[in-house]
Amino acid sequence: MHRAWKRALDRLGTELPAEDVQTWLRPLQARSRGGSLLLLAPNRFVGDKVAKAYLPRIRELVALLDPSVLEVRIELGTEEAPPATQPERERTLPVEVAAEPRFDGKLDTRYQFDNFVEGKSNQLARATALQVALKPGLAYNPFLLYGGTGLGKTHLLHAAGNLIVQNNPRARVLYLRSEEFIRAMMQALQQGKWDDFKRTYRSVDALLIDDIQFLAGKDRTQEEFFHLFNALYDAKQQIVMTCDRYPKEVDKLEPRLKSRFGWGISVAVDPPDFETRVAILLQKAAAAGMDLDEEVAAYIARRMRSNVRELEGALNTLHAHANLLGKAYVDLAFAQSTLRDVLRPHEQQISLSNIQKTVSDYHRITLSDLLGKKRTRTLVRPRQMAMALAKDLTAHSLPEIGKAFGGRDHTTVMHACKQIREMVETDARMRDDWDKLVRLLSV
Ligand code: ADP
Ligand code: MG
Repeated sequence: MHRAWKRALDRLGTELPAEDVQTWLRPLQARSRGGSLLLLAPNRFVGDKVAKAYLPRIRELVALLDPSVLEVRIELGTEEAPPATQPERERTLPVEVAAEPRFDGKLDTRYQFDNFVEGKSNQLARATALQVALKPGLAYNPFLLYGGTGLGKTHLLHAAGNLIVQNNPRARVLYLRSEEFIRAMMQALQQGKWDDFKRTYRSVDALLIDDIQFLAGKDRTQEEFFHLFNALYDAKQQIVMTCDRYPKEVDKLEPRLKSRFGWGISVAVDPPDFETRVAILLQKAAAAGMDLDEEVAAYIARRMRSNVRELEGALNTLHAHANLLGKAYVDLAFAQSTLRDVLRPHEQQISLSNIQKTVSDYHRITLSDLLGKKRTRTLVRPRQMAMALAKDLTAHSLPEIGKAFGGRDHTTVMHACKQIREMVETDARMRDDWDKLVRLLSV
């Protein structure tokens, strides 16, 4: 029976992407029980995913490979620890849970690579996190993710931790925010549990510390963290950290810590571009069972440009209102009226004159040339670009935009929008210009 599973697995390896096999199928443990083949999943997330995505094909293959198998089932559990009920998640500190057989590393299983939407802005960060998770301690150590708030750092941190545990259920992966580290340390000092503290933190296979900027100015904590860091690093235990900016720019962080953070790899997460924002909205809506029009996703994504958490907030507002009013389908008009107040502050930041100034600076042309009548190519493109940006980023109508651009007709504006949209889709340079301008206008 185990042979059948092994061969089914080999076969699946030829049918599926290696990453999927590694993530979902390798962690399963095969057991035979009364004619059935049980596949034990290390956690519910893996179990659900396998049951949904792969079980039918697994059944087919196993039936072919070993006709004596009556049934294939997915269950939760691992060999050593029989399917235990998940303990309530308590906010106890790792000092106390260290003695328990199942290591509670405070990982949040909602955050996975699977539900992280990839785009240009986070591609490198995601790929690096994945490598780290596949080869903890060996690929990149330490791994530091940095970037502004709400861009997915914490998500990737948990995703990496979750994948490590999925691949090796006995791995001790500990997630904590740096404030929690500080608190645990203080508590250990006060309660005379200093040795326990050190032992616990040094015994992990991977330590994930979120928001290390909060260590700034905490000299005693930095000192202890420095020693912990060295111990883990020397023993090839994985260290992953996030920071809200490049650590060298964090004031009151010890130079020797800064220098150590640079020993491994540091990767930035940038604000997502338009396509990624749309994709994130559509994915989150689908996950929430919400029927969201693509036009609505684009409407929100155009107006909220800097932060994924805000996108989620807008979506939640929309969802709540739709539920309340019993609306099964969210269309543009409904979104516009529901989100009016949420989006207003974002729209106010961008005015027509701001767009005109930014575009003429960017293309190094004068404002009067941008708005004037000359039709040389070097002026026409920026002019059209500015009009298209105005249409996309403000609530002004076509006639209003035409008027602001040297008294042009609304059909001229419409034509400009169409041309720019086509060029942005087909020409990488134009797309790059567009993204850069949108970003300049968003800060
Ligand atoms: P940060 O730690 O950088 O401040 P978070 O990881 O907490 O940001 O992300 C904020 C929210 O946005 C989370 O709910 C997260 O799941 C979501 N999020 C961020 N980036 C993505 C992405 N690329 N795909 C899906 N969800 C994302
Ligand atoms: Mg975070």
